[in-house]
Amino acid sequence: MRYFVKIGLEVHLELRTKTKMFCDCLNDPAEKTPNINICPVCLGHPGTLPVINREAVRKVIKAGLALNCHILEEPRFDRKNYFYPDLPKNYQISQLYQPLCRNGFLEIGGNKIRIREIHLEEDTGRLIHSSEGDYSLVDFNRAGVPLMELVTEPDITSAKKAGEFSRELQLIFRYLDISDADMEKGQMRVEINISLSKSQSDFGTKVEVKNLNSFRAVERAAEYEIKRQSKLLDEGKKVVQETRGWDPSKEVTFSQREKEEAQDYRYFPEPDLPPLHITQDIIDRLKAEIPELPDKKRQRLQRQYGLGKEAVEVFVQNKDLGEYFENVMSELRRWIRDIEKKSKVEEKEFFELARLCSNYMITDLQGLLKGASVEDENFLISPEDFAEFVTLIYKGTLSSKIAKTVLQEMFSKGLDPSCIIEEKGLALISSQSEIEKIVKEIVSQNPKPVEDYKKGKENALQFLVGKVMAKTKGRADPKVTRETLLRILGSS
Ligand code: ADP
Ligand code: ZN
Ligand code: MG
Repeated sequence: MRYFVKIGLEVHLELRTKTKMFCDCLNDPAEKTPNINICPVCLGHPGTLPVINREAVRKVIKAGLALNCHILEEPRFDRKNYFYPDLPKNYQISQLYQPLCRNGFLEIGGNKIRIREIHLEEDTGRLIHSSEGDYSLVDFNRAGVPLMELVTEPDITSAKKAGEFSRELQLIFRYLDISDADMEKGQMRVEINISLSKSQSDFGTKVEVKNLNSFRAVERAAEYEIKRQSKLLDEGKKVVQETRGWDPSKEVTFSQREKEEAQDYRYFPEPDLPPLHITQDIIDRLKAEIPELPDKKRQRLQRQYGLGKEAVEVFVQNKDLGEYFENVMSELRRWIRDIEKKSKVEEKEFFELARLCSNYMITDLQGLLKGASVEDENFLISPEDFAEFVTLIYKGTLSSKIAKTVLQEMFSKGLDPSCIIEEKGLALISSQSEIEKIVKEIVSQNPKPVEDYKKGKENALQFLVGKVMAKTKGRADPKVTRETLLRILGSS
């Protein structure tokens, strides 16, 4: 039996703000020394009052705008009451009735995933269960850190799409610069809700899976649940509505607790905080701060530079490298105009330069960078120099073999390419007479391959070209070499 898969996500995101959500303690959940970024407010001492962090509110609205949400005019905060040792106030300030954002969507791979809401709340502290004795420690550095929660409708239809959607969200959050959204560090946490049904319009019993701290875990857990639930349904059994955990080493989900009825958190409007007033003016100003988002950028890079899908994706995922690429391309545009004195930049020529540029950037330069960024202080190649490097390859002054050596030198010394070529004597030999001299030498030293070629063995020619290249350390112009060889072999 085949089933329809429905997956809805709940995504938590620690916002990168200077201070915590309701007090002016430092927002630094990575702080190693426990309980130093704390104060009476985030410890929930009686008599203290929370103050709303505007920066956090702005960041959530930005996320909402980027995800096509409606921004509420009067969002409010609510109390979610429950006791847990990592929650010093015994309630969490969250938003239930009037969140900041509602009714958005993200289109991905032709599918529209609706976003039910995005709200703002506060993170809890961290419990450290002792491995030695029968006790746990609690660190409140994280208590009160601004936490954004995004809830989707169950519109995702496969495990792979759940992974893709989560990755795209992370990329958008990073473009918006609202969080580093690192899953491994717990800055972004994804929970999946998943159900199977026999018809598209039916809703099966959903299971929630928590503790997914990588995209791989999101995909693998969804795959596992699809298999597990299919099997149950095939056997005529029922899926139990429950919360399950994910064991990354065994790659299985396991039951954590059954959800017999909705838990009663006794939500009520937070009496210590006023409602917010989000004016059109605020929305307009935040809209203006939103940079070009990944999908727009994909389309533009494709259109403007004629890049293939894979190259586009490298530059979209690696924002720094993408910006560097575009800086180099604007240098190259200038080169065509000012040096080559062409009034109109031909698209064909520009696309060919873009292709060369992106190839050398993605394979060779990234290889040299070894994961470091072009934004780093010790990255020495200016966009002008990289552009010059590309023009030298384009004009045939640098063979592809020598190009790698030159790039290596540019990378380690920060010198411009013509300087390196001159210093190391690396320029391409394209002088007819010079090449002819070398070709004649090679021909006289290799009578056997010459014979073979004359008997019709085509690859003997390649062998001789290789000999010329070896003799010149790759500097002989391949086109001239080939032509000269053909001419000399044909006339002798
Ligand atoms: P609950 O009240 O149990 O928390 P909600 O309706 O608030 O459930 O939804 C929580 C999450 O579960 C949302 O992301 C939603 O898209 C998802 N969800 C709801 N129903 C289903 C379903 N039948 N299958 C898969 N996901 C679902
Ligand atoms: Zn505090
Ligand atoms: Mg819910």
